[in-house]
Amino acid sequence: MAVDPVCKKQVDEKAAPGGKARFWGKIFFFCDKKCRGTFQRDPQKYVPEDDSEKEPGYDPRMFLGDM
Ligand SMILES: [Zn+2]
Repeated sequence: MAVDPVCKKQVDEKAAPGGKARFWGKIFFFCDKKCRGTFQRDPQKYVPEDDSEKEPGYDPRMFLGDM
């Protein structure tokens, strides 16, 4: 099971009623289209920043120079 990042409900990733969205290289599943819409308007609000879990290449901030 996956967790809907908006409402924190458990969602079956094989049959997510709200579909899925990709952000920072991760796939998120939604219990409802409304949750997906909410997420897509402001994804960063719902995704905790965790550098260790991000796939390199998907984070636009990688290219801003933090070295
Ligand atoms: Zn939801």
